[in-house]
Order: sequence, then structure tokens, then C-alpha cells
Amino acid sequence: MKRILVTGGAGFIGSAVVRHLIRQTPHQVLVVDKLTYAGNRDNLEPVSNDPRLSFLQADIGDAETMRKAFAEFRPEIVMHLAAESHVDRSIDGPAAFIQTNIVGSFVLLQEALRHYRSLPAAEQAAFRFHQISTDEVFGSLGADGLFSETSPYQPNSPYSASKAASDHLARAWHHTYGLPVVLSNCSNNYGPYHFPEKLIPLMILNALEGKELPVYGTGSNVRDWLHVEDHARALVLIAGNGRIGESYNVGGNAERSNLEVVEAICGLMDALAPDTGIGPRAKLIRFVADRPGHDLRYAIDASKIERELGWRPQESFESGLEKTVRWYLENRDWWGRIRSGVYRGERLGAG
Ligand code: NAD
Repeated sequence: MKRILVTGGAGFIGSAVVRHLIRQTPHQVLVVDKLTYAGNRDNLEPVSNDPRLSFLQADIGDAETMRKAFAEFRPEIVMHLAAESHVDRSIDGPAAFIQTNIVGSFVLLQEALRHYRSLPAAEQAAFRFHQISTDEVFGSLGADGLFSETSPYQPNSPYSASKAASDHLARAWHHTYGLPVVLSNCSNNYGPYHFPEKLIPLMILNALEGKELPVYGTGSNVRDWLHVEDHARALVLIAGNGRIGESYNVGGNAERSNLEVVEAICGLMDALAPDTGIGPRAKLIRFVADRPGHDLRYAIDASKIERELGWRPQESFESGLEKTVRWYLENRDWWGRIRSGVYRGERLGAG
């Protein structure tokens, strides 16, 4: 049994990690989350009654509160997921991305280091700080090739630049101060509890309501898609067993163009939520102005995590997408609260 501090544990991926930890492991979890527009305690509801889970509403950039959290909870592992995460919002308002992803990560690293230095040698040997990041830090690929752990960092959006900065800080805190850091960079996630500003949930909900399905540019941008529960399993493995000072790329081996993703959603919606008033959902597709600086293609070589840690995705894109569509159809209360309040589906990041 370990004590694991999960920052951003009320977000999309963080909550999948926490649900996995509580359901599949004996560990104790402290979630530290500011509850921004993207943080939602409903995401933790399935495990909220478990006495091994505790919750602290706090900003990772608040050094005093972080210091207290480290002193009281005495984490053996930190999984750092708290971030501003939406590229389009980073185009409209980069300041929050600089503040949380860079300054907040710096504060967290400092407090993790202070805590680490206070530990006896045996506990120091077991301590890990897991920096969770994105493949977007590597920039854009052309038609061929894959990102590996040695790909150079070439971030293009304010979001990916801020994540790249925090990866560099984590790396430096390892090399300079000896903090035991492990890093991972993952491709696009999808699945349950995904905030409906992101492509897949936005398209599912618009298709359900017969609204237009806005596809950026020509829809030819390619992403590699990974089901969030596969990512959560990978993260728990990396946090526990990854080699210190190393990074691991995580991906689903499921490259799809945005248009292919939207067409697949249309097909599933026609089958699972037929609505004679709407007709075939593909008719709702509209090509809209592209995202400024839109990276063409991301794709991941995940052979290192497979070789070293024995991880492989369990969902194919088809099986994972069908489960996701069914989840949104069965959980209208969850997204209804978001769609009627904090985010109503408007276009973000048009530049
Ligand atoms: P999300 O936006 O759904 O969740 C982020 C969480 O962090 C929210 O609960 C939010 O309240 C919290 N948070 C934000 N600022 C905070 C602060 N200053 N202090 C404390 N908490 C704060 O994001 P996500 O999609 O779950 O992504 C989680 C992490 O994984 C991020 O670091 C992101 O960069 C990374 N990542 C995401 C993807 C993806 O496809 N979504 C892919 C690879 C990596």
C-alpha cells in the first residue's frame, strides 16, 4: 500500500487514474485539484465513498498549501496531471497556461523536493515524481514517421509550449537536485468524463442534438487516439515501475484523421441513437476555419513502454469509441450539467 498524491485528479485523465487506483490497487490517494472549469468532483463520484480517497481543493501554485499537503499526507508517489489542457483556450488566453503549467509545476517541484529531502534514505529510494505530459511537445510530423522518446521538443501552440516547459523543469529537478522524476508523453485521449469542449465528446453531443458538426480546416489533421482507461493503466505502471530519469511515450497505435473520427461518430450515433427527425448525422458535418498553427499529424512509437513495462492498449479505436458513445448516451446528467452552464459548445481558439 502506497500513498499517492494525484494533482488534477478531478479532471478527465486524473479522475480515470484515481478511479483505477481505488478500484484496482490497495493504495491511498490524495487528490489535489483547484476545480477550474475542467475539474469536476462528479468525475470521482464512483469511488467517492472509499476511505482511501481524500480530496484537497487547492492550486498547485500555492506553495504554502502544497507544503502542508506534503507534510501531512507524506506521499510516496506524486502523479502530476494538473494543467490547463485545451489548445484552443491556450490560443484565446495563454496566461493561465503559463501560470499553472509552468509556474504551478515549478512550485510543485520545489515542494516535492523539500519533502523528498526530509525523508529517511529508505523512503527516498522509493519516492517518485511522475510528470505527465503530451506528445504535442514534439511538434508536428509530416506524412511519415513516429515520435519516439528521443524526438526533439518543438512545441507549436501556447499549450504545448507550456507543457514542454514543465517537462524541462521536471527533467532539470532530476538532473540538478536529484529528485527521482519519471516522465511520460501521451497521444490524444478519449473516453468517459471527457469535457465536452474536446473533439470527440463535442461531436457526440452535437450529433445527438442534431447540431452542426464543425470540423477544422479540411479535417485532414491526424491524431493517434488512446482510450483514457488504457492511459490510466499505463500511468500507474510508469509511476510505480518506470526507470528514474527516463521518459515513456504512450499511444494507441490508432491514427485517424479528424474527419475519420467524426464520420465514425456519425455512424455510431446513427446506429445507437437513431433519430428520424435528424437523418444521417454525416449531413451535419461543416468545414470551418482552421485552428491557427494547427499541427498536421502526431503519431507515437510506444514500443519502449511495451518492452520495459509490458503495457499495451486493451481497446481498439473502434471498441473504445463505441463504449464512449454509449457512455455519453447513458450519462446525460453528467454532461447536461456542463452543457447547461459552464460550457455550451461555442467555438474557441479561432485566433
Ligand atoms: P483536464 O483539463 O480534464 O483536467 C485538468 C485538471 O487539473 C482539472 O481537474 C483542473 O481543475 C485541474 N487544475 C487546473 N489548474 C490547476 C491548478 N493550478 N492547481 C490544481 N489543479 C488544477 O485535463 P486532462 O485531459 O485530464 O489532462 C491531464 C494531464 O494530462 C494534463 O497535464 C495534460 O497536459 C496531459 N495530457 C492530456 C492528454 C489528453 O488527450 N487530454 C494527452 C496527453 C497528456
